[in-house]
Amino acid sequence: MTYENSLTFARTCDQNDTLHSFRDRFYIPQVNGKDSIYLCGNSLGLQPKTVRAALEQELLDWQNLGVEGHFHGKNPWFKYHELFSEKESRIVGAQPGEVVVMNNLTTNLHLMLVSFYQPTPQRYRIITESGAFPSDQYALETQVKFHGYSPEDVIIELKPRAGECNLRTSDIEAVIADNAGSLALVLLGGINYYTGQVFDLAAITKAGHTVGALVGFDLAHAAGNVILQLHDWDVDFAVWCTYKYLNSGPGGVGAAFVHEKHASNPDLPRFAGWWGHSQEERFQMKKGFIPMIGAAGWQLSNGAILTMAAHKAALDIFDEAGMPALRRKSEQLTSYLEFLIQELRIPENILQIITPSESAARGCQLSLLIHQNGRALFEKLTAAGVILDWREPNVIRVAPVPLYNTFEDVYCFAKIFRKSWAELNR
Ligand SMILES: *Cc1c(COP(=O)(O)O)cnc(C)c1O
Repeated sequence: MTYENSLTFARTCDQNDTLHSFRDRFYIPQVNGKDSIYLCGNSLGLQPKTVRAALEQELLDWQNLGVEGHFHGKNPWFKYHELFSEKESRIVGAQPGEVVVMNNLTTNLHLMLVSFYQPTPQRYRIITESGAFPSDQYALETQVKFHGYSPEDVIIELKPRAGECNLRTSDIEAVIADNAGSLALVLLGGINYYTGQVFDLAAITKAGHTVGALVGFDLAHAAGNVILQLHDWDVDFAVWCTYKYLNSGPGGVGAAFVHEKHASNPDLPRFAGWWGHSQEERFQMKKGFIPMIGAAGWQLSNGAILTMAAHKAALDIFDEAGMPALRRKSEQLTSYLEFLIQELRIPENILQIITPSESAARGCQLSLLIHQNGRALFEKLTAAGVILDWREPNVIRVAPVPLYNTFEDVYCFAKIFRKSWAELNR
């Protein structure tokens, strides 16, 4: 597709966009009495207008039925998690029984590590990305210590080559092969939160399995952003949150994937709770944990229905739009953003897009590394009604989201960027 730097062009793209009407299903935050240009769905997705009614339904059942809501509510709370299986599994390319909605991301990561990181004196190493999201770093570090090992001996961090911003798949594969005898686990983000790079999850999983290691991914930035095929790629486990691209509200419920091949393995250690216990026997209150088959067997507590209700409303919209169509639009939106930033003709030693330029190696986000007046620029953009995020030391992440952002949003962002830049650098 060839792009043009004009409002007319952007509006024509919006008119031709089959997903355009989805924007109306969301509340757009207001700045100075106008719709903001919201490019921050990578951090917190917008509120679907249907969330309020979904919450009210559960409040009403609680109000009218009390404890009876567990079995007689419109969506009985006892098996509320089942409402997600089909649609959540389509987000990550799984079978319905391989996914469960529960807890929050970091909690789920710990639960997965309890099951899938079992170090022995021979096999104890973990490969992860250097500069992983802090919560992932802390989870790994403390899990390693919990097993009596030292993080310095265990955790191997993948770093880009000197002068490069992104990891090469062949380099990742080489580090895996170099640690063949001692590698227990590969744990990476599906998309690096800082650079926006999409990793080749299929190739990495294959490389990990070839040397006898397990492979898991944190999909915080990948779920609802790029096409995933966790089952076919043979990924062992994954976790994600639902408040970023999946629009389910601040601190919203998290989710986990456990590959079918592990679904009923009795030898897997796990930290159990009553909600993961065999459903038929859950209320018999007996001794002896019998896990439910599949990811549901990792549940601990009865579900946080209010956050799950918000997720249900959000996921219904997602499913209606469908990942393939969303991804198609997303590639165009982000390419348009890239085109407009290049049109600014700012030298690369001052402004650099550190996200890969091939569509297949990125999701919707572009990360702009700004070597001059970055923070001041960010503040000017914010004052002009653009909502984005700043990551220390000098990156602005810009994420046009196909479900509610428009080509016009992207065009207006670039226009405000140009003006702000000129004011700061005259
Ligand atoms: C957003 C994000 C988290 C957040 O973890 P929570 O437990 O949901 O607070 C963790 N890891 C990554 C990679 C993230 O992007």
